[in-house]
Amino acid sequence: MLEKKKAKKTWSRKIHTTYDVGNCKYCSEHINSDMSFIVFATKEPAHFSCYKTQTEGEQNASSR
Ligand SMILES: [Zn+2]
Repeated sequence: MLEKKKAKKTWSRKIHTTYDVGNCKYCSEHINSDMSFIVFATKEPAHFSCYKTQTEGEQNASSR
């Protein structure tokens, strides 16, 4: 029974995988699927925080 315990140990983690999304449209930093991100219709990914900052900035600029 000791053998049984040893057999499939580390594989249960495999379900949760992270993959590369690409580089952020705004800050050009690397994004992986663990982070919050969005993908534009043009297939360009961006950090959600960068996107938010960008859109809020635009709103502020146009409201003047
Ligand atoms: Zn970014």
